[in-house]
Amino acid sequence: MPELPEVETIRRDLEKEIVSKRVKSVEVHGTRSVRRHGSDEEFIGRLEGRKVLSVKRSGKYLLIGLDADQDVLVMHLGMSGQLLRVKSPKEPMAKHTHVVITFTQAGQLRFVDPRTFGELFVTRQDDLEKAVPELAHLGFDPVDDVMSWTRFGALLANRHAQLKPLLMDQRFVAGIGNIYSDEILFAAGLKYDRPSDSLSAQEVRRLYRGMVETLSEAIKHRGSSLADEQYRDLFGEVGDYQGQHQVYDREGLACRRCRHEIVRLKVGGRSSFMCEVCQV
Ligand SMILES: [Zn+2]
Repeated sequence: MPELPEVETIRRDLEKEIVSKRVKSVEVHGTRSVRRHGSDEEFIGRLEGRKVLSVKRSGKYLLIGLDADQDVLVMHLGMSGQLLRVKSPKEPMAKHTHVVITFTQAGQLRFVDPRTFGELFVTRQDDLEKAVPELAHLGFDPVDDVMSWTRFGALLANRHAQLKPLLMDQRFVAGIGNIYSDEILFAAGLKYDRPSDSLSAQEVRRLYRGMVETLSEAIKHRGSSLADEQYRDLFGEVGDYQGQHQVYDREGLACRRCRHEIVRLKVGGRSSFMCEVCQV
């Protein structure tokens, strides 16, 4: 599932590609992708003729500001969604293309989603938090919201939770999932099950720095594509950060820091990876 670095990579490219472009026409081929609307036509009607004003991100949601009625086009990629920028409408349509947005100048944006957990919908800015209650309770953004270590330490101390599930809790911090929580904890030298209120001041600083640096590096490398190559950027290319992973998906391989074998374990039903020497 795309996490913050993948969604942010798409957001930055989208901003360059579609801001100030006007929607000429919209086609819906998969009704499930616009399931919040009463009909395909309602979704289409709220998009056609609109100009894109902004491209923002909230957690793993992309929010496209439109020029009329304070409307916003919300996109969530779900498990397997891809947004593809296509220069010419003549380019062959990928399988599972559910929505096609054509702009008056320069090409299309296509939403491809084999597993159909992703979705697109248009809502008024004022109704956004009602439409997506998760957004109303979203924690801080680890890339956009700069925070002092003492403030971060206080947030950790307020919770009595294991570190890995806490990092993945969207109400605590937004945008981190299974891959980056493992990478962040390795960078911080901390074990997944450490209680959040047990960290020393130095460990709090290591965790904060590990989080910010890991996510920034991952964005610089345009996100992670795993063996399934499900994550693609706006131009259909795979990310590059998987080659930098220290622990994720490296079971049995040597730790890059101490050469001890990386182990895989189940945490909350998900595969997690760690070095038992470097992480305590
Ligand atoms: Zn190690």
